[in-house]
Amino acid sequence: MQGFLWSSLVSQSPISKEWVQEALSYCLDHVYSIFPQSQWAHSYRTLTFDGSKRCYGSVSNCGNIHINPAFLGTHAHSKLLITLIHEITHLVVGLRHKHNQVFKARFKQLSQGLQCSDEEAKQVLDNNGYKHRLIATDMEGKTIDLGGVLRRSKAYINYQYSPLRYRKVKGRVIQSFHYVDYVSSEY
Ligand SMILES: [Zn+2]
Repeated sequence: MQGFLWSSLVSQSPISKEWVQEALSYCLDHVYSIFPQSQWAHSYRTLTFDGSKRCYGSVSNCGNIHINPAFLGTHAHSKLLITLIHEITHLVVGLRHKHNQVFKARFKQLSQGLQCSDEEAKQVLDNNGYKHRLIATDMEGKTIDLGGVLRRSKAYINYQYSPLRYRKVKGRVIQSFHYVDYVSSEY
């Protein structure tokens, strides 16, 4: 692969919507130079910031790339570039591949030379407001996402199901609760 200067994009200023748009154009040009648009499973259409804060980014098969607004104002430039390339890779290989080997091989190729520190990911997490996400598991092992919380509660940490004493969520009897990071790394 030819040399690709990611570093030219990394700015000293906090991330703005304009910068994300500029970075996206750069990433698209980079990927188009390797895979012409005609080879993409889905074409790129729009970029949005409103929507789920659950992931760093997400993408739909209509070509809409969503970036978590928690990136804005941080210095997580490399993490954002990685997220953009991740979402673009989904468009190239097709969403049906999810995160399988086909996806991973393409992503590795397209993100060559890009790295980011855990510190950048932490900046985005901290900018989200919520630290944790509460997850309930019902008696059949299905999980229910109960959304973001600032701190963990003993009432949920110590919860134990008993036939005489249990909690219900959305009409389902709950076997256990647990907390995960508010923004999942499985984006
Ligand atoms: Zn993904």
